[in-house]
Amino acid sequence: MNSSNINGLKLFFFENLSSCNCLFHGISTRVGGVSTYPFKSLNIGLNTDDTYENVMSNHLALSNALEFDLNSLVSSVQIHSSRIKTVNSIPEESKTGSVIKYTFDGYDALITACPDVTIVIRVADCVPIILFDPVTTVMAVIHAGWKGTAEGITSKTIDVLINQYSCLAGNIKAGIGPSIGPCCFRVRENVADRFRSQTCKSESLIIIKKSGFSVNLQEANKVQMTMRGVRADNIEVSHICTSCNSHLFFSHRRESGKTGRFGLFAGLRA
Ligand SMILES: [Zn+2]
Repeated sequence: MNSSNINGLKLFFFENLSSCNCLFHGISTRVGGVSTYPFKSLNIGLNTDDTYENVMSNHLALSNALEFDLNSLVSSVQIHSSRIKTVNSIPEESKTGSVIKYTFDGYDALITACPDVTIVIRVADCVPIILFDPVTTVMAVIHAGWKGTAEGITSKTIDVLINQYSCLAGNIKAGIGPSIGPCCFRVRENVADRFRSQTCKSESLIIIKKSGFSVNLQEANKVQMTMRGVRADNIEVSHICTSCNSHLFFSHRRESGKTGRFGLFAGLRA
């Protein structure tokens, strides 16, 4: 990934997606917003105790920096599942102009082929993922927490791209964004077991330490992609740990839940 400063906001971009003219994307950080501690400062979490005015102001700053219309922004209340929503248009009721609210409830992956739609996934340790097929011009944005990852949300999203949008796995480009890394994501053995049973490549996903187990969520989602036929050289993994870099990213674990959210924004350009 590389980063840029736009209007005082520090934003990250996947290098392998930056040359795709019909896609825009960006990952926000905590740098450049108006919120105060513990949401300092670019918090976009709607379910946090931050003020609505601050969260709104931060969304406005991001819509200016990334050049998307706030009326085009769709998102879902995320529930750490593997439920997937296909978005064919912007629901009329979500064209709210100056109000930020969830469009859908209960989905952790959103797929669209519609150039009018901007999708945001909000995270603070969970893995933000983007899949893009430049041939069929379809994209998916995924919120992959450990539960969603264990349920195979990325595999299932690729299945929808293949079966409903006629994508070829070999054409799909992918970006796996900042999340809590194996350095910091200690889990109990029963959680590690969920990953052990998921894939034959578990040895790279589960790290056994003296203090217990760690899971590599970014790698787990990469394995789901390659097992579905996505080429490894089309997958960019950030290898950025949100907990180790909590000066840049909100980290739910490191900050004991008293923190904000950053986001992966993406949309198609007509
Ligand atoms: Zn770490």
